[in-house]
Amino acid sequence: MSSPSRRPDASPDPFAAGRRRRLRQVLWLLTGAFALVIGLNLADAAYATAGLEGAIIGLLLLALWLQRRHFHDAVTLTAASLLLGLGVLVAHNQGLYDEAVLAFPALLLFAGMFGSRRLLLGLIVAVLAALLVLFWLHQSGRLPSVPKVPMDWRRPFVIGLIMTVTGLFVWMVVRDLEAILRQLEEEKAALEQSHAQIEILAQRDSLTDLPNRALAKDRLTHLLTQARRNGRMVAVMFLDLDNFKTINDSLGHIAGDALLCQVADTLRSCVRESDTVARLSGDEFLILLGDLPDEDAIIAAVANLTHRLGQAFQVEGVDVLVTASLGIAVAPRDGSDTDTLLKHADMAMYRAKDAGRNTFRFFDPSMNANLVEELHLTAALRSALGSEQLMLHYQPQIELASGRIVGAEALLRWKHPEYGWISPARFIPIAERSGLIHELGAWVLRQACLDAQSWRERGLGELGVAVNVSAAQFRRESLEHDIARALAASGLPAQALELELTESLLMADARHLANVLQRLSASGVKIAIDDFGTGYSNLGYLRNFAVDRLKVDQSFVRQMTRDSHAQGLVRAIIEMGHCLGLQVVAEGVEDAQTLAGLVDAGCERGQGFHWSPALPPQDFIAFVQGHQARG
Ligand code: C2E
Ligand code: MG
Ligand code: MG
Repeated sequence: MSSPSRRPDASPDPFAAGRRRRLRQVLWLLTGAFALVIGLNLADAAYATAGLEGAIIGLLLLALWLQRRHFHDAVTLTAASLLLGLGVLVAHNQGLYDEAVLAFPALLLFAGMFGSRRLLLGLIVAVLAALLVLFWLHQSGRLPSVPKVPMDWRRPFVIGLIMTVTGLFVWMVVRDLEAILRQLEEEKAALEQSHAQIEILAQRDSLTDLPNRALAKDRLTHLLTQARRNGRMVAVMFLDLDNFKTINDSLGHIAGDALLCQVADTLRSCVRESDTVARLSGDEFLILLGDLPDEDAIIAAVANLTHRLGQAFQVEGVDVLVTASLGIAVAPRDGSDTDTLLKHADMAMYRAKDAGRNTFRFFDPSMNANLVEELHLTAALRSALGSEQLMLHYQPQIELASGRIVGAEALLRWKHPEYGWISPARFIPIAERSGLIHELGAWVLRQACLDAQSWRERGLGELGVAVNVSAAQFRRESLEHDIARALAASGLPAQALELELTESLLMADARHLANVLQRLSASGVKIAIDDFGTGYSNLGYLRNFAVDRLKVDQSFVRQMTRDSHAQGLVRAIIEMGHCLGLQVVAEGVEDAQTLAGLVDAGCERGQGFHWSPALPPQDFIAFVQGHQARG
């Protein structure tokens, strides 16, 4: 048994109460044993011995009282009394022939149970010394060398009593050890359970119970090792829900969570036991398929996934349709380690998003090359900011009924000293992804307002200017300040500024956007929906937002003369715009025939190569002056 703790630290000894109880039991046991022996001695008229034993009982009772407050002192007192009492008793009677000698081991056992190591060692030394003294007493004749007392029943009785007390001590020690072991077992089990719990929390997504990124990476490592061994393929798929934010915003977070759980279940049911579906974040999932013989198997799995996801989910009694963009990287072709494969699948997923969502893309190495190019362009764009490389060109907008120029769309141009002209379709998305769009967008607003005000001051008439604004700009509070600053700095009336935003923006940030548009509209700024007809056509939003104009996408307008469907579509958009009280602008007007069709359909405004492409500021001024001069 461990030595008693005299540790100075504050943590309480968990076994203290049990040890105290044991000490009390031992003291009562010893008191009882001595009382019995006193009885025997009194019967033998050995009064001196009985008196000594009575004194020992007194000391034991004192220890019993002491243990409540001073446990260790009580132990020391007991040990010392027993040693002294036994020593004197033995010396007084028959020395080493006395049966009380047998009590010495019990005394050592007691010290081992309750005392410190120092006490035990001290007692061993004292017992050995007592034995030596007794031996010397025998040798010197002070004690008889042969026992004089005849053998009678008292001797085995006392020996039996000592043995019984010793046996009970041993029994107590064993019981205590067992209890401690049991307690340790229980603590170990509890510890293992909480370890398992922590592991679950660290490796699983709490909403869907799917593995999280850490566990998924582990599983992928395992699948890759297996695939290397048996020459099979592993597919790593990044899946991102396209319209989750809209659903979350319109139905609420609880419904959004319910939908994510259903999607998780569906995905899980589409794959085999040995495959993995993990949730990486929000609406982003990772699917790992191992042991694939060829690419056909992957395509079959993708077809199955998209088919199952394409079926309506029931959320709070509403049928919800989800679509997803999937990016797929295949090992060993697209990489042989987890990080590379995850990166490539992620890139492929963004390609699927760029391709209009609700589709999938396999990784191909050109994506990597594009990424490197994008990094170069981002750096180049950063240094182009505030330089001559960036400029605005203006494309005239014509009022179709009168043929007058009523304004212009500001289109950003970038002439890189090395790469030449770079299309905004190429660099605007890069500016959006890198965050440069905020600085760039603020500059465009300021410059467009300054130029438009200068046209007015030159007497070109009350021309308006339309500025394209990215979704990313709308997500920042700073947009409204940028607009206010641009108007204030230029002196342009708010009514002359029009913001062009895309349909997808309206879908993504519905609530926030409605408020921003309301405030802008109240300040007089006009709002146009650009590229109308190419986004998710939820027409309901047009009524909820403070919108003034629709710009029919040029892809329909340019087809009008060749394709009766396109013509029908443009007419329908114009009619619908009018029903909602909106003006309609047709972009991409390239010829007189298209213009005639638009006039016939009642379209208010047009812009396109039929009149002019976007022009540098000076050329635009000359164009307007020429146009006005022609009348
Ligand atoms: P958008 O706003 O739809 O601009 C119209 C695009 O159609 C312009 O391309 C314009 O040059 C082109 N276009 C105009 N008339 C015709 C025509 O008759 N036929 C044909 N085939 N094309 C015509 P651009 O300048 O290359 O701009 C592409 C897109 O880049 C713009 O589409 C707009 O979304 C974005 N963009 C341009 N400038 C900015 C800007 O300052 N900020 C932001 N956020 N986006 C911009
Ligand atoms: Mg535009
Ligand atoms: Mg457009």
